[in-house]
Amino acid sequence: MDFSALNKSAANSFNQQKSLIKKVLAGKTVKCSNCKTLISIKTSVDSVMIKCEKNCTDIKLDAELMK
Ligand SMILES: [Zn+2]
Repeated sequence: MDFSALNKSAANSFNQQKSLIKKVLAGKTVKCSNCKTLISIKTSVDSVMIKCEKNCTDIKLDAELMK
């Protein structure tokens, strides 16, 4: 089986996610590419989430991404 195409697109979306997270953390206005609502940071006791209003963008931040 050939997974190279799949791996490539996964890497792309990971990089996109990373740049999106950076923008949101920098306080920039970022809109969800899917539903066009505003993406905001939600913090809870044990995690930091980045979400749009419809929750189609729903990224949980880990320590690696916060560096
Ligand atoms: Zn969305």
